[in-house]
Amino acid sequence: MVFENIGNYGNHEQVIFCHDKDTGLKGIIAIHDTTLGPALGGTRMWNYATEEDALIDVLRLSEGMTYKAAAAGLNLGGGKAVIIGDPKKDKSEGLFRAFGMYINALNGRYITAEDVGTSEADMEQVYAETPWVTGIPKGLGGSGDPSPYTAHGVLMAIKASCKEKLGSENLNGVRVAVQGLGNVGSNLVKYLIEEGAKVIVADIDQERVQKMADEFGCESMDPNEIHSAECDVFAPCALGAIINDQTIPQLQCKIVAGGANNMLAETKHGEALREVGILYAPDFVANAGGLMNVFAELEGYSVERALERTSAVYNNMMNIFSLAKRDNCSTHDAAFKFATQRLNTLGRLKRKHQGSTSRPFTTLKEVYNR
Ligand code: NAD
Repeated sequence: MVFENIGNYGNHEQVIFCHDKDTGLKGIIAIHDTTLGPALGGTRMWNYATEEDALIDVLRLSEGMTYKAAAAGLNLGGGKAVIIGDPKKDKSEGLFRAFGMYINALNGRYITAEDVGTSEADMEQVYAETPWVTGIPKGLGGSGDPSPYTAHGVLMAIKASCKEKLGSENLNGVRVAVQGLGNVGSNLVKYLIEEGAKVIVADIDQERVQKMADEFGCESMDPNEIHSAECDVFAPCALGAIINDQTIPQLQCKIVAGGANNMLAETKHGEALREVGILYAPDFVANAGGLMNVFAELEGYSVERALERTSAVYNNMMNIFSLAKRDNCSTHDAAFKFATQRLNTLGRLKRKHQGSTSRPFTTLKEVYNR
C-alpha cells in the first residue's frame, strides 16, 4: 500500500518516515521536487484516522507546494511534513526535537515551517535541533506568523482580478464577501476596509463575526450562504472545495479570489467558472504570500522585502490571466501551465550546467546571525 500510494500521488523524489518510540513521534516528510531549490513546506499535525490518510495528505500537499513555489517565481522546491497526533494533547518538547533531528539529517533538502496544528513555539523546538526551519519567532531572527503576508498577497490577487474583470484595481466601493475570519480572513478584512471596500463576512465562529462588525462595521451573513452573496468578489478564506457542482450555480459574484487552499472541489470547476463568466484567481497563486514571506527569511529577513515579494502576486496574477486568454483555457489550467513551464525551463538549464546553480546561502543560522 505504501509504495502504491507513493506511486499514485505524484512522482516524489523522497519520502521519509520518522518514528521515535520514546517521544511518540510518527511523522512523514515528503520531498516532491527540488528542481528549483530546497523543498519548503510546513509541518501539519493532525489526528489522522489512518496512517494511509496521513501519507496521502503529505504526498498531495507536497506536490501542491512545488507548483505554488514555481508559480510564485521562487527558487524553492515542494515539500511538506505531517505528524500524526492530536495537536491539543500529543505535543511535547521531545516530539518536536526528535522531528527536528530528522529534518537536520536531510541537510537542507527540506525546510519546514508551521502549518495547521503547529505553532511558532513548536518551530522554536525544531530550531533547537536544526537550522532548516522558517517561521520561527521574531526574537530568534525569524518572521513569525506568515498569515498577514498571505492576506496581503490575497489583497493583491483581488486587485489584479478587479483590474481584469471590472477595469480598475481601485477597491473603493467594491463589494467583497469574505468566508472565514481566521488568521488570513481577519487580516484580509482589515486590508479591504483600508482600501474602501464594502465587506460582508461569515464564520461558523460567531465571536469572530462580531469582532469584525464591532471593529469595522462589516455586514454579516449565514456561513452556509455567504458563497451566494450578491457581490463583486467572493473571497473564500476557510475550507477547501467550496467551489463545487452545488455552489457554482448559486454564485452571484463576478470574481472568486481568496486565501483558502484547494478551493476547487475538482479541476473541472475551474472550467465551470469560466463557462459562467466568473473570473477565478487560482488559489495557489493568490495565497503564496505566506511562502514568499518565509522565503524572505532565507534571503535575510526584512518586512520591506517580504511586502515587496507579496506585492508581486499582482503581476503574477495578471500574467496568468493573459496566458489564459492567449491559450483560451481556464485560469486554473493557465496557472499550472505557467508553473510547469518554469520547472521545465530551469530544470533543463540546471541539467545542462550541473553543479553551477547551487543555493547562495549555506545555513539559515548564518542568515539569522548576520
Ligand atoms: P484559520 O483556522 O485561522 O481560520 C479559518 C476560519 O474559517 C476559522 O475562523 C473558522 O471558524 C472558519 N470556518 C471554518 N469553516 C467555516 C465555514 N464552513 N464557513 C465559514 N467559516 C468557516 O485558518 P487560516 O490560517 O486563516 O487559513 C485559512 C485558509 O487559507 C485555509 O484554507 C489555509 O489552508 C489557507 N492558507 C493559509 C495560509 C496562512 O498563512 N495561514 C497560507 C496559505 C493558505
